[in-house]
Amino acid sequence: MKTIIVLGTGLAAVGVIRQTMKSTVLNRKDIKMIVVSPSTHFVWTIGMPRAIVPGQFTDDKVLYELQPSFKNYPSDKFEFVLGKAINLDPVGKTVTVALNGPVSTRNITYDTLIVATGASSRDEMPWKALDNSENTIDKLHSVQEKIKGAKIIVVAGGGITGVEVAGELGYEYSRNDSKKVYYIHGDNLPLSPVALPSVRKQIRAELDKLKVKTIPNTKVTNVSTKGADMILELTAADGSTTTLTTQAYIPALGVVPNTSFAPASILNAGGYIKQIKSLQVDGHSDIFVLGDAGSLEDNRGGIADLQAQHLIKALPLYLEGKTMPEYKPMEKPIFAITVGRGRGTGQMGSFKLFSFLVWYMKGRYMGTDYAGALAAGKRTITTKFE
Ligand SMILES: Cc1cc2nc3c(=O)[nH]c(=O)nc-3n(C[C@H](O)[C@H](O)[C@H](O)COP(=O)(O)OP(=O)(O)OC[C@H]3O[C@@H](n4cnc5c(N)ncnc54)[C@H](O)[C@@H]3O)c2cc1C
Repeated sequence: MKTIIVLGTGLAAVGVIRQTMKSTVLNRKDIKMIVVSPSTHFVWTIGMPRAIVPGQFTDDKVLYELQPSFKNYPSDKFEFVLGKAINLDPVGKTVTVALNGPVSTRNITYDTLIVATGASSRDEMPWKALDNSENTIDKLHSVQEKIKGAKIIVVAGGGITGVEVAGELGYEYSRNDSKKVYYIHGDNLPLSPVALPSVRKQIRAELDKLKVKTIPNTKVTNVSTKGADMILELTAADGSTTTLTTQAYIPALGVVPNTSFAPASILNAGGYIKQIKSLQVDGHSDIFVLGDAGSLEDNRGGIADLQAQHLIKALPLYLEGKTMPEYKPMEKPIFAITVGRGRGTGQMGSFKLFSFLVWYMKGRYMGTDYAGALAAGKRTITTKFE
């Protein structure tokens, strides 16, 4: 019996799991699949900037139980292991898993390994899956409670998540003067210079309309607590410091790859697993890498989606010993950013996207209208399989 191990149950993994079970594993006597993840739930990250606003989404719009999708597979063909990979031996073809709960580990050998362990939030916020699903749900609720009780909310972080969170809070609170919302970011405009200046300026203008008080060229350099308040030390680009008092500090400071289990020889300087264009690991053709954990492209759901779609087609060929097609990385930046529940912006190559289009495609529901089918592996963001 040959074993395919899949590490992770995020956006890059779930479609590959179901579609490979259907196309190959269930139809062949000689292959089984083992899925390893510390999460019992699929986390819909794209909905999280709105989910933290109290009353916007019930938990089941952003957290989807995996078991209903897995329970009908025969036990000799499929196994779900609740735990996280802590070591990978590519020569011995073995993954060591720390099982959730009381300390214990299990070694599992593979013939084919698919690594889709993604990346975690730097700030222990529930933007991505935390150590286990209970912690993700508890943290989501505690952030909602903090926001509910706050008079002043401070969001920090110049990336897409920071912008979307500031926009959601501005739409709900500062627009109607019910709470003050500050937005702190390190550059002179939101996002990095990879984005068009017109897109960055529009984000700033939209936040202004929502009465979000933007503080550019600034970083939060210390956080201390005083009773129910948090005192933030802000350091401006010129080195000067001030303080800002808040009852809800919402950091969105980026992600780090979940690859500490992998040997240094297969990691790049940023800690991402070195992928070649077939999505295999350089020098290890039996290991595929998908999504945020890989080095080939940026950390974006749209990219994880395209890589997953590619592997869904390529893996059956690989397993039959046939030649696989090459993956074509995305050539131009494509992204859509919501700024509150009514507006948005974005970019496709050198074109700025219309606000209405971003609202229609994303901002209306934040993908919660299709996330359930995606979590079940029946579709990706852009392609329906069933
Ligand atoms: C708030 C937010 C909003 C976003 N919005 C957008 C958007 O609008 N559009 C867009 O294109 N992108 C967006 N992104 C980026 C997108 O979410 C990621 O690119 C995408 O989640 C990557 O999917 P993934 O499966 O590679 O990794 P992840 O989603 O990080 O999933 C990783 C999985 O691996 C599991 N795991 C972690 N460590 C281990 C281990 N050691 N062993 C086994 N399993 C492990 C995790 O529990 C999880 O199940 C957003 C990101 C955030 C944080």
